[in-house]
Amino acid sequence: MKPWHIVGHEWAVRQLQTAIEHDEVPHALLISGPDNVGKMTLARLVAGALLCKGQADERPCGVCLACRKLASGNHPDLMLVEPEEEDGALKIDQIRAVERFLALTPNESPRKIALIAAFERATIGAANALLKTLEEPPAYAHLILLAQDADGLLPTIVSRSQQIVLRPLATATVEQALREQWNVPAEQATRLARISGGRIGWAIRAATDVVYHQRMENALALLLDVLHQDLPARFDTAQALIRDASVNVSETLEYWLTGWRDVLLIQTGNAERAIHQQHHTTLTQIAQHVPLPATVSTLKAVEGCQEALQRNANAQLALENLLLNLPGG
Ligand SMILES: [Zn+2]
Repeated sequence: MKPWHIVGHEWAVRQLQTAIEHDEVPHALLISGPDNVGKMTLARLVAGALLCKGQADERPCGVCLACRKLASGNHPDLMLVEPEEEDGALKIDQIRAVERFLALTPNESPRKIALIAAFERATIGAANALLKTLEEPPAYAHLILLAQDADGLLPTIVSRSQQIVLRPLATATVEQALREQWNVPAEQATRLARISGGRIGWAIRAATDVVYHQRMENALALLLDVLHQDLPARFDTAQALIRDASVNVSETLEYWLTGWRDVLLIQTGNAERAIHQQHHTTLTQIAQHVPLPATVSTLKAVEGCQEALQRNANAQLALENLLLNLPGG
């Protein structure tokens, strides 16, 4: 088969292409891995290959009517489901809609595919509803589930699906892809690849989307501002972060974590290994003002806040708690 347009994950691509060639794609596929590692890209390739009307060894061909409908989000035999709000849950009504969709025979192809993203955020009701569909799928139906981590899902769902576990890519792979496929200048490619932690999707967005990149810079700038704030101001900052629709809190925490790691590196004499070199002055200032043990406990506190958010804790409380306990400037 012709190579699929995806960076890394070669073994997963080989496995799926073989399944498609032999017409052995399972009814339920569970693709797991960290955010922005390539789960959606891979799922769309599988869906495309299943629905494409091009030559068998060229699917998805990208040019047939089915492929063009997929690209514009208008293929009647593919349903994409994801939480309606950025950090929201996947609800039972959404899974019932999937059931209804799969109950009707396909329109334009021999198959029908439901692609469900962020399944780790399914409510227990939604997960149980899906289980019913998984038990007796119609012959033409394919479910592709995406989740960060299969461990958090109902074991009965995992056992009924074929699992594909995607790992973060090597930093060098991300760097090379940024340079060669997205024409990112070498220095920026190196920096973004290191921040990405192997999550290629993040690196591509940070390199190509000015707004997205600015969000990272804003988050890093806030890192220093917060330290100079008194407690009432920190409350306000927490509230503003929650209310501002342009801010993604878990992403902000991710950047703070990379920033504080840099502070720790500077404090321990490893400044050259810091990744936010263009914020060197700011980070060095923090490194000079904050005692080393406070840096270590701050790193733990940021991680703790991230975990609380993943467990769907009250975001505002978690964030307030973090900000109030940050060291003073
Ligand atoms: Zn096609």
